[in-house]
Amino acid sequence: MEIEIKNRDDNQLTFIIEGADISLVNALRRISMVEVPTMAIETVEILKNDARIFDEALAHRLGLVPLTTDAESLVLPADCDCDDHCPRCSVSLVLKGKGPKTLYSGDLKSEDPNLKPVLDTIPLVKLKEGEEVEAEAIAQLGVGAEHAKWQPTTSCAYKYYPQITIDADKCEACLNCVEECPRSVLEYDEKKKTIKVVDLENCSLCRTCMKDCQNDAITVDVTEGKFIFHIETDGSLSPTEVLSRASDILAGKADKIITFKEGGS
Ligand code: SF4
Ligand code: SF4
Repeated sequence: MEIEIKNRDDNQLTFIIEGADISLVNALRRISMVEVPTMAIETVEILKNDARIFDEALAHRLGLVPLTTDAESLVLPADCDCDDHCPRCSVSLVLKGKGPKTLYSGDLKSEDPNLKPVLDTIPLVKLKEGEEVEAEAIAQLGVGAEHAKWQPTTSCAYKYYPQITIDADKCEACLNCVEECPRSVLEYDEKKKTIKVVDLENCSLCRTCMKDCQNDAITVDVTEGKFIFHIETDGSLSPTEVLSRASDILAGKADKIITFKEGGS
């Protein structure tokens, strides 16, 4: 299997994976989305709320704030032996302020320097003169399968690598395909008087060009075993961290199946 990185920054990664089965690529996608643990606020105790927002709405807002995740130093609540929450499975954050002002995610003060909001600029509540809010939030590890707030990915998708063939004998250079392509994948080559593919990886495989070609001169197909994979995260984990943990989880599942097949338990 070969992997070629096409684009990479802190929160996004696009790569080409070749020589892989679609079931493996799809398993990585699904595990990345819903099985890689991240931290999110799970319970909120509102101690004071004079603001014009219901307690439930404020708690919901807090739950959706992406938090930096140090999954290595904490355990999932289900794996912890405490009754409710403890430092092994939870981190406490406090939100406190008096108006007039707007409280932002950056005003959430965490007891653990490794856990804090990914962004400081998410508005949480507007306070008018004299209004006060005080709340204690408990953040815990969880997975996207349980609730979307624990999903580290904001986008995680793949597509087959496109393959476009233009039959020069049939093509009359009518330019229908060039004009109708929604992704500017095709261009007319003035010098050679032919249609050329200028941005193959941007092709969405919609096949509009095929439908608009009266001469059946253009064919769009997929390359078996080759995919373009794109992953974007909310900043709680980097794309490579998500993929690495997803791969470990997948390997663990494969080990269980092998053990089962070999008669273990
Ligand atoms: S399949 Fe769609 S995106 Fe790809 S070249 Fe044809 S029209 Fe453009
Ligand atoms: S629509 Fe068909 S005939 Fe017209 S330029 Fe495209 S490939 Fe050639």
